[in-house]
Amino acid sequence: MSEEEAYDKLDKMVEKEAQKPKGEIYCPECGSSRLYYFLGLKAGQIFVCKDCGYQGPLIIEDGEVAEEIRKNWVNEKSK
Ligand SMILES: [Zn+2]
Repeated sequence: MSEEEAYDKLDKMVEKEAQKPKGEIYCPECGSSRLYYFLGLKAGQIFVCKDCGYQGPLIIEDGEVAEEIRKNWVNEKSK
């Protein structure tokens, strides 16, 4: 499976299964607010980022921190 196909699959999965979380939360990897979560897993709640594909229990709730992460991530990506 190519990376693009994997992301496409994740996208469909996320749209189908996930709910949008309440309040402002951000991805710890890329600072995106396009996060969704899955509940009912053994690990508790797992967040999924639609922008970078991050999956995990950690999120950022501070918008300023998220903005910094976002800037760095965009820089990294445009290299
Ligand atoms: Zn992300």
